[in-house]
Amino acid sequence: MSRTEPLFYASTRARSPAVEISQAIAAGLAPDGGLYVPEVLPRIDPAAFDPQGSIAATATTLLAPFFAGDPLADELAAICAEAFVFDAPLRPLPQHPNSLMLELFHGPTSAFKDFGARFLAACLQRLPRADNRPLTILVATSGDTGAAVGAAFHRRPGVRVVILYPDGKVSPRQAHQLGSFGDNVTALRVDGRFDDCQRMVKAALNDAALQAQVPMSSANSISLGRLLPQMSYYAHNALRWWRAHGEPLNFIVPTGNLGNALACLWVREMGLPVGEVRLACNANATLADYFGGAEYTPRDAVATLANAMDVGAPSNFERLRWTFPNPSALRQLLHAECVDDATIRQTIATHARQHGEVFCPHTATAMHLLDQLRAAGDAASWAVVATAHAAKFESVVEPLLGHPLDVPPALATMLQRPATALPLAATDAALHDWLLARGA
Ligand SMILES: *Cc1c(COP(=O)(O)O)cnc(C)c1O
Repeated sequence: MSRTEPLFYASTRARSPAVEISQAIAAGLAPDGGLYVPEVLPRIDPAAFDPQGSIAATATTLLAPFFAGDPLADELAAICAEAFVFDAPLRPLPQHPNSLMLELFHGPTSAFKDFGARFLAACLQRLPRADNRPLTILVATSGDTGAAVGAAFHRRPGVRVVILYPDGKVSPRQAHQLGSFGDNVTALRVDGRFDDCQRMVKAALNDAALQAQVPMSSANSISLGRLLPQMSYYAHNALRWWRAHGEPLNFIVPTGNLGNALACLWVREMGLPVGEVRLACNANATLADYFGGAEYTPRDAVATLANAMDVGAPSNFERLRWTFPNPSALRQLLHAECVDDATIRQTIATHARQHGEVFCPHTATAMHLLDQLRAAGDAASWAVVATAHAAKFESVVEPLLGHPLDVPPALATMLQRPATALPLAATDAALHDWLLARGA
């Protein structure tokens, strides 16, 4: 398709009308409960990109077809310039030849969620709104999303953020980050699991009567405003690798709700030089079982050391199925594997001791998959996707090292601020009542 042809977005459940991307971003979830997907995934020529361009320039070129015909199209370069203010470097790892680390933790909250959250905030800020009441951004988080969204929207006029997180199930530093913003950002510590938080947010967003009183939008990985920008760092680095080495780059992606991995797959489907994609999961086996040949069986999440991946019902699975409608073809295309807590610990400890490289528990799942590939004699070029900085998960990582980790400056600043979170029961009614009392 040509770049000027408008692109519309349909629901994965096909029972809502197709909309422009602005509407899809403003709504989060489609009215029928499905996820918005482009009616066709655009294709793009690798030659369209400026080889000297920044990641913001890559993002602008890559995402232009997704915004074609939309009021935000003229703003896209400004949105990308505002969102992509930190780099996503590809760094060689000393452990094995042809092994790289795609570092996605150089943003304000030290996890890859900063890319999507900042892009979404830059989009929402520019969208005209019918009423002038503040927009409430609801976000369920297993730790990292909430902080990234809080940081991205902090002190933006006309918006307030309500973060729900499972009390006691995020790291002490994550909890501190979530409660440290104040102003227009409120943290609610929910007496339940991440899946409860996610369900409560979905119920509130789908409640038309509540929406009439409290205008709401979502910032979870179901939002296209978060998913699309995540494609940029894959495109940027895969293109660079391909220009330098003449081959596609393979990626191992730590996976929970499948937003990060799906972004990588969409880049490949667009025709850019991404090679094989492998999903590294923690003990939550929904995806590994499916790709192992079982029926898709969403289930309750189990708590692991890689808590941002504690997902039993990956929300982007609907988009994955839409992208690859033939199940047997899909199973051939992807590989998913579980890594248990003992192996996560062992991977962190071994690499720190032998190579002085320290990984967060999520990144360690992907590193373990690379160790296995190398042990089996695989010599291809693989990039392990580092989704967060190890210092964010000090309670897991430091005891394995036996010494404290250096904290990145942005994280250190956030940890110096005081933090507060309000308690909330894990029921849809509790959130409904809180929003009505505090939100209208
Ligand atoms: C969110 C997150 C993941 C999982 O990403 P998905 O897009 O949900 O698959 C992995 N690692 C870290 C550190 C995260 O914050």
